[in-house]
Amino acid sequence: MVIHSAQDIMQALQAVENPRIVITTHHKPDADAMGSSLGLKLFLQTFGYRVDVVSPTDYATFLNWMKDCDKVIIYDNEPELSKQLAMEADFIFCLDFNHLSRINEFGEVVTKSNAVKVLIDHHQFPQGFENLTFWDDLASSTCELVYRFIHVNNMDERIDKHIAECLYTGIVTDTGSFRFSNTSSETLKIAARLMEKEIDHVEIYNQVFDSFTESRVRFIGYAISQKLEVLPEYNTALITINKEELKKFNVITGDTEGLVNYGLSIEGIKFAALIIDRTKIVKMSFRSKSNFASNNFAMQHFNGGGHFYAAGGSSELSLEETVEKFKQTLKIYKAQLNEN
Ligand code: 5GP
Ligand code: MN
Repeated sequence: MVIHSAQDIMQALQAVENPRIVITTHHKPDADAMGSSLGLKLFLQTFGYRVDVVSPTDYATFLNWMKDCDKVIIYDNEPELSKQLAMEADFIFCLDFNHLSRINEFGEVVTKSNAVKVLIDHHQFPQGFENLTFWDDLASSTCELVYRFIHVNNMDERIDKHIAECLYTGIVTDTGSFRFSNTSSETLKIAARLMEKEIDHVEIYNQVFDSFTESRVRFIGYAISQKLEVLPEYNTALITINKEELKKFNVITGDTEGLVNYGLSIEGIKFAALIIDRTKIVKMSFRSKSNFASNNFAMQHFNGGGHFYAAGGSSELSLEETVEKFKQTLKIYKAQLNEN
């Protein structure tokens, strides 16, 4: 895979007069996906370009303060407009994902479009559908990569407070507030430069982590006290949520974010899973510690992928069958899960 430089990508953009740009990101975008997409949109708009963000689905309400989030076009709600924008675009930036299956039906549209596709991403094992690649799996977040893209082009002065807020948020969430192993000195330097843009980091934290609805907090309590299963022979913890429970607690997009981490916070637990019976598929989140690769597990058994310590996948079996398959699959990894 050829990795292109930030300058090459900027030159490609500037070679087209008034380029039309679409930015897209993975379905159910998290803070890194939304922050990188909106941060890049606001940055590219400083050149006077027309830039539209298309998300395959809706996003969590705890992100609804980001500048221009109300202008994000949701493919599920506006498929025709989304298609039109993608077909008319000169460039489609693909942020925080590297496999077209991550953008649902919009993937077919992106494939059909003649636009130059630019990938900015930090997940392992890219599919390779793009024309220009700005990729580093050691980057903490896609927001960090968007910052690097701007910085390497010597354009930091174009970063205003709104752009800085978007980028800072994705870095905070993808690094688990700077505690995960993906936090480098480079990450902290970038966060510091973004703070110099006079963002209110306390308020950002408040919006993202301290703005839960009461039902979300009660749902978390219920999930931990009633639905957490610990499998000591595999050093694994599992939370399973069915459709009735999603309804009972009015669970909306974003409410299950972070829930999988509680399993991993138990001493000795190396692998944690959250399995949820969503509308069409059973969705799975995986987190791990030490030598256990979540993304490998997700990729080999549950059509997924992600990072070494944080990955996800899905299953078309019933919830019960998926849980059974998950437990059977653990047997293959028993020795590895019991290594020190
Ligand atoms: P989360 O559990 O927070 O939804 O996702 C954790 C990580 O795994 C994220 O980096 C996300 O992009 C990735 N991921 C989640 N679900 C999937 C999936 O179905 N396929 C792939 N390839 N990656 C996923
Ligand atoms: Mn990310």
